Amino acid sequence: MSEIKIDLYSDTSTKPTQAMRTFMCEAEVGDEQKGEDPTVNQLQAMVADLLGKESALLLPSGTMCNQIAYAVHCGPGDLILLDRSAHPLISESGGAAVLASATMYPIDGDRGQFTAQQVAEVVEPPTRYKPTFRLLSIEQTTNRPGGLIWPLEQIREVEQVARDRGMMMHMDGARLLNAVVETGVAASDYAASFDTVWVDLSKGLGAPIGGVLVGTEAFIHEAWQWKQRIGGAMRQAGIVAAAGIYALDHHIDRMAEDHANAKRLANAISGAPGIRIDPDTVETNMVRFEIDELGVDSATFINRLIQSAGVRVSGPGQYLIRAIPHLGITEADIDEAATAIHSLADALS
Ligand SMILES: *Cc1c(COP(=O)(O)O)cnc(C)c1O
Repeated sequence: MSEIKIDLYSDTSTKPTQAMRTFMCEAEVGDEQKGEDPTVNQLQAMVADLLGKESALLLPSGTMCNQIAYAVHCGPGDLILLDRSAHPLISESGGAAVLASATMYPIDGDRGQFTAQQVAEVVEPPTRYKPTFRLLSIEQTTNRPGGLIWPLEQIREVEQVARDRGMMMHMDGARLLNAVVETGVAASDYAASFDTVWVDLSKGLGAPIGGVLVGTEAFIHEAWQWKQRIGGAMRQAGIVAAAGIYALDHHIDRMAEDHANAKRLANAISGAPGIRIDPDTVETNMVRFEIDELGVDSATFINRLIQSAGVRVSGPGQYLIRAIPHLGITEADIDEAATAIHSLADALS
C-alpha cells in the first residue's frame, strides 16, 4: 500500500502528542479496581463535574459506556428507542441484545435527529402484549449523518415526551464536546436532560484509549458491577487516565480548529466536478460528499486518492466519502488534501 501522508479517515486516527505522552509517563498510579488509582479518580471527578453529574466511571471504550448504561437501565424485553443511524444499532455487534437483553427500536430521524412528535407517535404504554419503551438514546453529535448537533431545545422537547411516558434518557456523547465547542452551550446543560451521559477520550480529544460514563452514584455503583463482570476493570489505569486529563485540559478548545478545517475542506472541494457537497451541512468536524457522478465507487475513489496523493478518507456508503480533520491535521494538510481531491475528480470526470 502507498504511504499515507494525510490521514482524514477518522478522528480516531489521532496519536498522543509528545506532551501527552510525557504527562502519561509521570502519572501517579494505583489499583483502579480498588479505587486506589489517584489519576483515574481525578479524571472521573473532572468528567462528573464537567457534565454536572454525581459520579463517573472510566471505561476502556465508548462502546462499553453505551453497553453498560443499557445493561443497567434495561431488563429483558425492554425497548431502547434510538435513531436508525445510531452507533449502538449499526456498530456495536448487537451488544444491547446480548448484555441488556433489550431490543433496539429504530426511529427514522432527519440526519440522526428525531422530534418529540415522532417519539409521541411510537411510544405506547406497555401492556401484556407490548414491550416496555424503557430508554431513549441519542447521539451528540450524530456520527453517521455527519457530525450534526442536536439543538438543546429539541433535546428538551424530546425529553418531555419521553419522561411523560416513563422513559429514561441516555446520551451517547462520543462527540458531545465538539457540540460544546461549536455552540458555546455548556456540557452540563446538554447533559441535564439525561440520566446517563458519556464522552469519548479517544476521538477528537486525542487520547489513545477510553470513555468516561457519568450518572447518579447509585447508577455508577451498578455500572461498576458490569465493568467487573465483563472484564473492563483495570489495574494501573492512571497511565491511560492521565491522557484523558491532559486532553480535557488542553484539547477541548482546539477542536474549533478541526471544525474550521472541516469547513475549509468542504468549501474548497465544493466546486470540483462530480463532487456533490453542501458546505452548509458541515457543523462540526465531519465532511461528507457524494461521488456517484464520477462513475467510481467509494472504494475505488479511496484507493486512487491514496495512490495519487497519500490522502486517506473513508467511505461509509457505496458513493459516499467522509473526511475528518483532527489534531494531527494542519490547515496546510487540508489545502493539500483539497487539491488532491480536486485533481482526482478532474481525472475521473
Ligand atoms: C466512536 C463512537 C462510539 C464507540 O466508541 P469507541 O470508543 O470507539 O468504542 C459510540 N458512539 C459514537 C457516536 C461514536 O462515534
